[in-house]
Amino acid sequence: MLIITFSPEETCEVGRVLGEACHGGEVILLEGDLGAGKTTFTQGLAVGLGIAEPVVSPTFIIMREYDGRIPLYHFDFYRLEGTGRAVDLEFEEYLLGGGVCVIEWPSCAPELVPDDYIHIAIEEKAGMQRNVTVEAVGGRHRAPLGRLRAALTPQDGRL
Ligand code: ADP
Ligand code: MG
Repeated sequence: MLIITFSPEETCEVGRVLGEACHGGEVILLEGDLGAGKTTFTQGLAVGLGIAEPVVSPTFIIMREYDGRIPLYHFDFYRLEGTGRAVDLEFEEYLLGGGVCVIEWPSCAPELVPDDYIHIAIEEKAGMQRNVTVEAVGGRHRAPLGRLRAALTPQDGRL
């Protein structure tokens, strides 16, 4: 599914709607260059999960946890690349923790990525346009994606 946004607020809103569609246990991979909008998207997702605390980039500490209707485990694997530190992360425990795992830069520690996830790629276009491509990989994430699709207007794929 392709969703086109034209401002940070719209990208945030797509995240919020997906957050509202989550029930806990979802894994969301976020790909995109620096400044594409991965953290902006996650800020909206957190609102949709009922998290009041503002989400900040987890880059320097690899993971931040937020409490809400559903907890958010926000990972940034950027600094794991080539360090071998991934094994210290006890990542499996977060996967089973009942919250939503969001992973920025999953390609930096592919050995941690489970088989079933929502893949989101954010691509920077001219001006403030972003192309947000959302796909379910594996069967478990079709339902929240269906709920996201249902919240989009059919005419233009936008909110
Ligand atoms: P990342 O986490 O991918 O590095 P951030 O979310 O931290 O990116 O930053 C995205 C930047 O791009 C912000 O400064 C934001 O204001 C800007 N921006 C401009 N247009 C958009 C848009 N349509 N969606 C998201 N961010 C946008
Ligand atoms: Mg970021």
